[in-house]
Amino acid sequence: MGRPGQRPRLRCYGAVRTVTGSRHLLEANGDRVLLDCGLFQGRRAESRRKNRELPFDPRTITTVVLSHAHIDHCGNLPQLVAQGFRGEIVCTAATADLAGILLEDSAFIQQKDAEYYNRRALERGSDDRIEPLYRIEDVWATIDRFRTVPYHYETEVARGVRAVFRDAGHILGSASVGLTVELPGGGARRLTFSGDIGRKLMPILRDPEPLVPADLILCESTYGDRLHPPAGEQKQVLARVIGEAAARGGKVIVPAFSVGRTQNLVYFLHELFLEGRLPRLPIFVDSPLSSRATLVYRAHPECYDEPTKDTFLSAGHDPLGFRDLTYITSVERSMELNTLEGPAVIIAASGMCEAGRILHHLKHHVGDPRTTVLIVGFQAEHTLGRKLLEGAERIKVYGEEVPVRCRVVAMQGLSAHADRDGLLQLFRQLPEPRGQRALLVHGEPPQSEALAEHLGALGVEARLPVEGEPYEL
Ligand SMILES: [Zn+2]
Ligand SMILES: [Zn+2]
Repeated sequence: MGRPGQRPRLRCYGAVRTVTGSRHLLEANGDRVLLDCGLFQGRRAESRRKNRELPFDPRTITTVVLSHAHIDHCGNLPQLVAQGFRGEIVCTAATADLAGILLEDSAFIQQKDAEYYNRRALERGSDDRIEPLYRIEDVWATIDRFRTVPYHYETEVARGVRAVFRDAGHILGSASVGLTVELPGGGARRLTFSGDIGRKLMPILRDPEPLVPADLILCESTYGDRLHPPAGEQKQVLARVIGEAAARGGKVIVPAFSVGRTQNLVYFLHELFLEGRLPRLPIFVDSPLSSRATLVYRAHPECYDEPTKDTFLSAGHDPLGFRDLTYITSVERSMELNTLEGPAVIIAASGMCEAGRILHHLKHHVGDPRTTVLIVGFQAEHTLGRKLLEGAERIKVYGEEVPVRCRVVAMQGLSAHADRDGLLQLFRQLPEPRGQRALLVHGEPPQSEALAEHLGALGVEARLPVEGEPYEL
């Protein structure tokens, strides 16, 4: 037994019994490595408090290791920097680029949200005011701290602590991270952080790589008790829906997240186009953020899988661009779509119809029986997307009641997260699953607990961590 405090240990401070706010602290050799620094999302007051009050002093953090660019993993980095963090943020190059645009967007949303809140307070006659969680200047200071590392390249992140990134196949640049801690008295302990794990056979991205074997595995469990239909089948649904809408002379309106989902859809559409299975009709991606994210996807072909290289790159094609596809950034061009005659496909954000340009398109088209709204992602409770999915006869957009006369089609199976079997596979691939220790995070308790049970059947000692408790490696 070493002296107390000498063994490296891990504490989970977010994504515990929930899916947002990923942040975990590794203490080793007197240094502190923070894994992710994500934003909590949910009820406003509670998330504001959790995002604002960090459970550790940012000035004592040596380095941040970032798994990927989703806002629930990187979204609170500007707050960490604003409160005095002065180390490096280590991640892949694609993650650094995507995080840059997503954090700028997040700062903009924070500012709008604070303005809205303060305006409402004023109307109520209250002098309650809130400040945005962070500002664009904080984002720029954060971007300055990124240090990028290629996949499979071992790099030192703290005294005697090395990290290696492996492709997690979740979004562009996403990684699972293997960390090795050299102990002062000799020997080493190892921790592997799964990040968010993607799926096999998804467009553009490689399949998730096996995890680096370790003494302790910190693993996501978003869909610990669910099985997804194969992603490839979705392409057939897409072809059918567009074919039918074109025959009726209607529009296909697709609410989609800007990063990942939009590019997957474009990829499938491009394949269908090359296969001659799309009717001749204009396709629009109407979102400045999606357009910027697509530029990042184009800038990182090193992240593409073999089919993408074979089908597109080797033939000189851009996988994310083709004759009938137009990316729209300007407001004027976006407004012009409102008066566009004839069939068309319009992909716009936000993915759950809570904000963004998708609202204009819904307002103009859901009353038309020739329209199809194609739902391609998860729709949380109380969102407009969920209401459409549940067959609402009227919806409220910008304070105006609009009748719903269109068709609503749900396309499941485009999730960017591994399902139960995908997660179990990661443990089956380990040299010795039996006796493996695992902490399950990034999941609602029913999902995480179900996964723990399935892992138990493999001999893995899996449990849900208690927030802030130390776990020795
Ligand atoms: Zn993610
Ligand atoms: Zn996540």
